[in-house]
Amino acid sequence: MLRSEGGPRLAPTAQGRMRSIRSGRCWGCTYNFSAASVSLPFLPNPPVPSVVSEPISIYDSSGVELLRRELRLDPQRVRRWRTSLLKRFLPAEEALVDFPADRLAVHALAEHGRFDSGVDGATKLLLRTSAGMLVEAVILRIATGRTTLCISCQVGCAAACRFCATGKMGVARPLSVAEILDQILRAGQILREEDRSLRNIVFMGMGEPFHNEENLYPALETLTSPEFFNHAPTKILVSTVGIPEAMVRFAERFPKINLALSLHSARQEVREQLIPLAKRYPLDALREAVAEVNRIQQKSVMIEYLMLADVNDGDEDARQLMAWIEGLDVHVNLIPFNAIDGAPELTASDRPRREAFAARLKAAGIKTTMRYSLGQDIEAACGQLVRRLERHPRGGALPGPKSPTLPQAGE
Ligand code: SF4
Repeated sequence: MLRSEGGPRLAPTAQGRMRSIRSGRCWGCTYNFSAASVSLPFLPNPPVPSVVSEPISIYDSSGVELLRRELRLDPQRVRRWRTSLLKRFLPAEEALVDFPADRLAVHALAEHGRFDSGVDGATKLLLRTSAGMLVEAVILRIATGRTTLCISCQVGCAAACRFCATGKMGVARPLSVAEILDQILRAGQILREEDRSLRNIVFMGMGEPFHNEENLYPALETLTSPEFFNHAPTKILVSTVGIPEAMVRFAERFPKINLALSLHSARQEVREQLIPLAKRYPLDALREAVAEVNRIQQKSVMIEYLMLADVNDGDEDARQLMAWIEGLDVHVNLIPFNAIDGAPELTASDRPRREAFAARLKAAGIKTTMRYSLGQDIEAACGQLVRRLERHPRGGALPGPKSPTLPQAGE
């Protein structure tokens, strides 16, 4: 497990350039750094070195500006390739035709594999860090024509939720800003070839986003910046397992970006069995955080609720959930569980049980949606495929059926 011990930490950019990030004790769930102080892509007025020789990350505004000045290029050229590459998702060789492409580092992750579902519109992308670690991103092509991308923000995850394949990996490391954004660029380029556009982006892949605030926030700023991707904040959703102070920090910094809380039970003892972090962040504290996020954002918080047979799907579970929700502005997503190898004791609630649970919530006036799954044949659930390939690196046929359920941002 990696932990920063305070003081500056060096984070690799796309081509291994190292940059100091201000971080205090961070991601092992204990936070005391000021996320508001971090703004990687927008460093102001850097000193001008005489020569810039190594490739610059395309997300490094100050580095790109140095390069432009060194080459005495018109600023319009930079604007042109950013628009072509990050808004229209043209291939790099077309987008950078007007710029010395060899001076820029476009992709922070290498392609490792692509797995297209044979039964629905899901595609899982396996991408590789420079250290050889695998990262998952999942494209979901919904029948209505909407397209959602689910991306990762860590390799592995310290939260170790009982129902999650990624949680069984332990912690490897957080993804850099460029590595988070490259998942979007690569997916956008795939969708462009299909004449589709990327509508929703959800941070529900590998890792707990608020265990990587120092890179998550600059990535969100770059994603929504008119200068870069210009993606609508209302079409982005960040999902957390529940870290109250980070939820409020996030809402203050990104009032328009949607927040989802993976609740999974409104009974403290059940939640602690499913999510070890629940011991540190009890339900009362989470409820206060959701109320505060409601006050700041003036819109609903998504409540993710995995339906587990005889664990959290009974009448008493519904009653306690309704009591916990009372007075909050939330939208409950009931999610069918997809079994994972590491937790054979957990099984999915059957459809009648899920429907009865949903009916109770709806009768109480609670906004409720029953979700469905895509990618059953490609192990699209978070962490599943990476774990499977790590154990059987030569692969062969993809095992299944196991699948993800991903809500839409900004529906
Ligand atoms: S569900 Fe999310 S927070 Fe929990 S272990 Fe998996 S990736 Fe981490």
